[in-house]
Amino acid sequence: MNNKHFKQLIAPRLLEMEQYSTSAYQHSIKLDAMEMPDNLSELTGAEILNALVELKLNRYPDPNFLSLKKRLLKKKGFESPNIDVVIGNGSDELIQLLCLLMANDGKGKLLIPSPTFSVYKILGTIHGLQILEHDLDKDTFALDTSKFIQRIEADEPSLIFIASPNNPTGNQLVKLDIEDICRACKGLVVLDEAYYEFTDSSKLKLIESFDNLLIMQTMSKTGFAGIRLGMLFGNRYAISLINKLRLPYNVNTVSQAAGIEILSCKQALSDRIDAVIQERRYLTSQLSTFVGIKVYPSEANFILVDFGNYSADLIFSRLLRAGILVKNVSSQHQLLNGCLRITVGSKEENRKLIETLAKIIL
Ligand SMILES: *Cc1c(COP(=O)(O)O)cnc(C)c1O
Repeated sequence: MNNKHFKQLIAPRLLEMEQYSTSAYQHSIKLDAMEMPDNLSELTGAEILNALVELKLNRYPDPNFLSLKKRLLKKKGFESPNIDVVIGNGSDELIQLLCLLMANDGKGKLLIPSPTFSVYKILGTIHGLQILEHDLDKDTFALDTSKFIQRIEADEPSLIFIASPNNPTGNQLVKLDIEDICRACKGLVVLDEAYYEFTDSSKLKLIESFDNLLIMQTMSKTGFAGIRLGMLFGNRYAISLINKLRLPYNVNTVSQAAGIEILSCKQALSDRIDAVIQERRYLTSQLSTFVGIKVYPSEANFILVDFGNYSADLIFSRLLRAGILVKNVSSQHQLLNGCLRITVGSKEENRKLIETLAKIIL
């Protein structure tokens, strides 16, 4: 298979790509992927089995996830028939579908702030979109909206992804200026609110005012990364286009049922989110006491830290030797040189992290 003739049948951009990899390191404390540190509650094996039988797993899932969708729209306060939501197998699938929709046989252009969530560029490239990157401020990682709008007017992108709060920088990139961005862009503007619960800043209501604004949220960062549920809200027409492209049974029965249950357990969820925010405060202040490292203020459930003259690779491997896995983003982007991204863990995990860092750095 690995011969020249076979390779000529495949688009060069796909041959050049590397597979998206997640770390396979041995560890006891996992602070690399923005997961919640603890699991919700303990069901017994028999209860789980009974629940699964009731779901009638011999049948295909509801292809239009109607129950889940109805509850979701109600919970978010949308009653207008003009607003719709499509659910994906994680937001990653929704990002893929948006790229597919806007690829336009090689004529599509994707504009993203940079550095940002690496999946945008990977999926844009796979689908043959031209990738336009707009650098964030080198000291604060802020997005200069007026320059970004000039870029939009000059390059006329068909698709823009903005993660706010942004991954891996942790800051909000847009507040009300998202409205000016929507006015300036002739294509789709996708606001990725994967971390909005950690800063309480959703712009979801704005989809009622802007036809080209779609807002994406996920259940992954608030405790349910394993069920893979992402949501894309927007006007009915845009959502209908995504529905045409997605696979018929993209959200499995178990995840649909779990999603419905999760939407009804509000208090337990918000208590856990509050605990993460409190721990983020603790970690930020503790990390800030180390001389020679820079801690970026975070509105998400992770913290970006620039280890300055200490080598990020060295700190990463010393932490790993102590069993603590964080994300080394140092080589992802020029502006991230020296940086590690640390997920806020449980109380015990965070204290262990600080203790261990103190031993490494002092
Ligand atoms: C983690 C993350 C996602 C991925 O969400 P899934 O629903 O787990 O696929 C999307 N966007 C950003 C910015 C993220 O950091």
